[in-house]
Amino acid sequence: MSRLTIVVPCYNEAESVPLFYQAVVATMVQLPQVEFDFVFVDDGSKDATLVVLRDLAVQDPRVRFLSFSRNFGKEAAILAGLRTATGEFVVLMDADLQDPAELLPEMYRAVSEDGFDNAATRRVTRKGEPLIRSFLARCFYKMINRMSKTEIVDGARDFRLMSRPMVNAILAMPEYNRFSKGIFGWVGFTTKWIEFQNVERVAGTSKWSFWGLFKYSIEGIIAFSTAPLALASFLGIVFCLLAAVLIVFIVIRSSLFGDPVAGWPSLVCLISLIGGVQLLTTGIMSQYIAKTYLETKGRPAYFVKIDSQSEKSD
Ligand code: UDP
Ligand code: MG
Repeated sequence: MSRLTIVVPCYNEAESVPLFYQAVVATMVQLPQVEFDFVFVDDGSKDATLVVLRDLAVQDPRVRFLSFSRNFGKEAAILAGLRTATGEFVVLMDADLQDPAELLPEMYRAVSEDGFDNAATRRVTRKGEPLIRSFLARCFYKMINRMSKTEIVDGARDFRLMSRPMVNAILAMPEYNRFSKGIFGWVGFTTKWIEFQNVERVAGTSKWSFWGLFKYSIEGIIAFSTAPLALASFLGIVFCLLAAVLIVFIVIRSSLFGDPVAGWPSLVCLISLIGGVQLLTTGIMSQYIAKTYLETKGRPAYFVKIDSQSEKSD
């Protein structure tokens, strides 16, 4: 019998967790040949998530949970969950039921029978989401796919069922600044894409603010593309050429027509433009340097405060 570990990052999901648990258990009846267990990662929730998880773990020995010392973000929770998962197959799911549990049998079959290394899901609609958010998300995916060789699929969710070799490959990626959407593509392996219509979360609210998403998209670009650095060099070349042309023009003009004091507004414009471009390119470089700085510190991605398994053995 094969075993499937369900990894669930949770941040303030006290209301959703019980509903999620029931939905998954109800669906897994369709896969009687599969043993399954849960790894819930409480990402420093401020509500009763931990209490709910404790109750679940008492009721069901298949439930294991970790609780972080503070909120470290979903990426850290995913990493902790994958490290803790012991199943031959591992599936990542959100706690809010936005990742439909009904897809699990199809995903499982794709990996265990049809020979795919992982089954990933993609929502084809963004119903229920603010229009501006959908629009900006589309622009982001177009842009990052132009800039990066790693394929990052529009609408792809983190809801993914993976085989053990793929999980091990992901765990072998040592980076501290983790952008899972990119990591999944970068490690390779064969993927079966399963499409579904967007579902709204059952309870609670999305943790994403506009600013949060903006920062996340910048992180994605920096983690998987060096195109902005190339852009910085390109701008440098363009402005050098422009300056060379202008110098020749001005030298010729002043030797032919003298040097009347004029044109300081255009000078001011040029100075501000070049100043702006310089700041922009230094800014781009600083982003990469900042990430390098954080990587070299080699800080752990998270700290676990409570592990239900060590609690049990105490
Ligand atoms: N999440 C987390 N840590 C965070 C933010 C979110 O573990 O700092 C979890 C959250 O509990 C949920 C999943 O990540 O299970 C997706 O979060 P959310 O529903 O807010 O994102 P959305 O579905 O809106 O993209
Ligand atoms: Mg959600």
